[in-house]
Amino acid sequence: MAEGLLYVISGPSGAGKGTLVSRVLEEHPDYVLSISATTRAPRQGEVDGVHYHFMSIDEFEDVIEKDGFIEWAQVHSNYYGTPLAPIEEHLAAGDTVLLEIDVQGAFQVLDKLPQAKLVFIAPPSLEELERRLRGRATDSDEVIDQRLANAKGEMEASKDYDYVIVNDDLERAAKELSHVFDS
Ligand code: ADP
Ligand code: 5GP
Repeated sequence: MAEGLLYVISGPSGAGKGTLVSRVLEEHPDYVLSISATTRAPRQGEVDGVHYHFMSIDEFEDVIEKDGFIEWAQVHSNYYGTPLAPIEEHLAAGDTVLLEIDVQGAFQVLDKLPQAKLVFIAPPSLEELERRLRGRATDSDEVIDQRLANAKGEMEASKDYDYVIVNDDLERAAKELSHVFDS
């Protein structure tokens, strides 16, 4: 498999991955964003099969048993995983595929597909990260606290990424990310 290009995008929750990836997809509508599976509850406005495949823990563990994920991990107390079959199909078709996944998943993907390029989106500071998570207003205080606690460890992993983009000014960061795809 693996004729298309594969980019893995990670970074702490609230760093701006979703915002930046939406920009990339506007510029490159032919790129394919993988839809992950998760056991976390849908947020308001999230649609099953569009934002995530929402699963029960039993369903998720069943897919693990059947080797149906290219990678999976427990992130912020929930399971998240990337379904294998669509990735294989899109790469075989020569598509450019984006995965927006956490650092544990990124290194699992790199083990299996060493041609993957790893892109880390970093916040300008942990204080700004907290402001963004609270400003986004999609998570409870408890969930936000857990995401902030995990952010430091995630930042550590950025040293093993191919590209690190600091999302301070959105326009500048979006341009920098565009250059990664055009290089
Ligand atoms: P992630 O997908 O990494 O969890 P989001 O893309 O949801 O992060 O961004 C978190 C919040 O920060 C959102 O409310 C978003 O609008 C805001 N945001 C993203 N990038 C910037 C930026 N460069 N400056 C200020 N706010 C930003
Ligand atoms: P959220 O709950 O905010 O949508 O995502 C939380 C974290 O889970 C983010 O860091 C995101 O990158 C990560 N994530 C989303 N999908 C996957 C996946 O399929 N695999 C892994 N390992 N992490 C994922």
